[in-house]
Amino acid sequence: MTAPKKLYIKTYGCQMNVYDSERMAEALGGEGYVETSRPDDADMILLNTCHIREKAAEKVYSELGRFRGLKAANPDLKIGVAGCVAQAEGEEIMRRQPLVDLVVGPQSYHRLPEMEAKTRAGEKALDTDFPEEDKFEKLKSRPKAKRGPTAFLTVQEGCDKFCAFCVVPYTRGAEVSRPVDRILTEARDLVERGVREITLLGQNVNAYHGAGPDGDWSLARLIWALNDVDGLERIRFTTSHPNDMADDLIEAHADCPKLMPYLHLPVQSGSDRILKRMNRSHTAESYLKLIERLRAARPDLHMSGDFIVGFPEETEQDFQDTLALVEAVQYGSAFSFKYSTRPGTPAAERSQVDEAEKDDRLQRLQALLTRQQRALQDAMVGREVGVLFEKPGRLPGQMVGKSDYLHAVHVDSDAVVPGDLARVRIVSSGPNSLAGEVLG
Ligand code: SAM
Ligand code: SF4
Repeated sequence: MTAPKKLYIKTYGCQMNVYDSERMAEALGGEGYVETSRPDDADMILLNTCHIREKAAEKVYSELGRFRGLKAANPDLKIGVAGCVAQAEGEEIMRRQPLVDLVVGPQSYHRLPEMEAKTRAGEKALDTDFPEEDKFEKLKSRPKAKRGPTAFLTVQEGCDKFCAFCVVPYTRGAEVSRPVDRILTEARDLVERGVREITLLGQNVNAYHGAGPDGDWSLARLIWALNDVDGLERIRFTTSHPNDMADDLIEAHADCPKLMPYLHLPVQSGSDRILKRMNRSHTAESYLKLIERLRAARPDLHMSGDFIVGFPEETEQDFQDTLALVEAVQYGSAFSFKYSTRPGTPAAERSQVDEAEKDDRLQRLQALLTRQQRALQDAMVGREVGVLFEKPGRLPGQMVGKSDYLHAVHVDSDAVVPGDLARVRIVSSGPNSLAGEVLG
């Protein structure tokens, strides 16, 4: 018997890349690869990259440079680049970094087995097509091995919104939804393997409109169907666009027992002038009204969001409007970024905000968001929440998991194991997590 080949895969960026990395590892599993956590032990290194901000792409090049020694020591080592940098820069990567053997875009990674064979024959392999065929149909069915209690499941890919700052419509292509039956089969398989919580993924997940047995289904209908899957305890979804928050999805937040009270709904800015320049097609007011409706449906809903500061032409007043919106919403968590120029996007051509000003605005915004996040987290003390336990903690006897609201929670208890969903009373709040006691 030949020893299995080893695959080291490093994932950058969003949850969709985490899901894609799993699928790529599984695709290469069929070619005799097992995963390793050590690049120096690998027969193939795959970087699954992110192109959303400039730094993310630069990190890939510096990481590739670090593999030079490994390749010199082991000429049979194959190095591949996948994901959105691969899609955007294609041949440029091979030119800039000759040690790269393989470049594969996010829509063609079902072809990895053939591409890997090509590299073993001493050739370079590049595929950044947006193929006609559906990669999910072409990928081998997923293995049955046991796995942890939480999983991502991509239901929708690509984006047709073309926000002026964003590369996603170019790197991930047009918006496509997977058919309902495929998603339900994959979800049931995940549950059989030990999964208790599924997060449905899409760049614009709430625009989901996949083919169902009786026409296209909305995301809410899909969530209700998942609600009936025995053994699945929790459903989440991300990332949503404010313009696609349909009535049935808002109602699901009120009525669907397994849908968790947490919603990531990026707004990007609180200034209508900037939102218009961003091509977001919602206003600060329409966003706030939407949150009012969501909170009427589910009063304990924790809101999360994304913000960009220093978008071209953003003034101090525009930024103050963003702070005012944040004050009005009271976020449970949030991600905020300095605007990063992406070549080929409309905003790249516009008058840029000074870097020091961007830094200053980011600091002020993050200080406010951190205060809000901490206040909402502290308010959990004394409450009873559901916690899905995922793994042992750092200290002996400790178990950690996530609350319904996605807070990290740890308990000192041997009464729970990974995969248990338990009621927990929160007893204290630390900088990044809560501590609790398992109830009865
Ligand atoms: N589809 C989601 C939406 O519309 O909100 C967002 C998906 S995008 C992959 C994730 C986040 O990256 C965005 O919400 C935005 O805040 C941030 N982002 C995208 N392009 C950016 C850029 N050029 N500079 C800084 N942040 C950016
Ligand atoms: Fe990018 Fe989201 Fe806008 Fe689509 S909706 S272009 S993914 S920020």
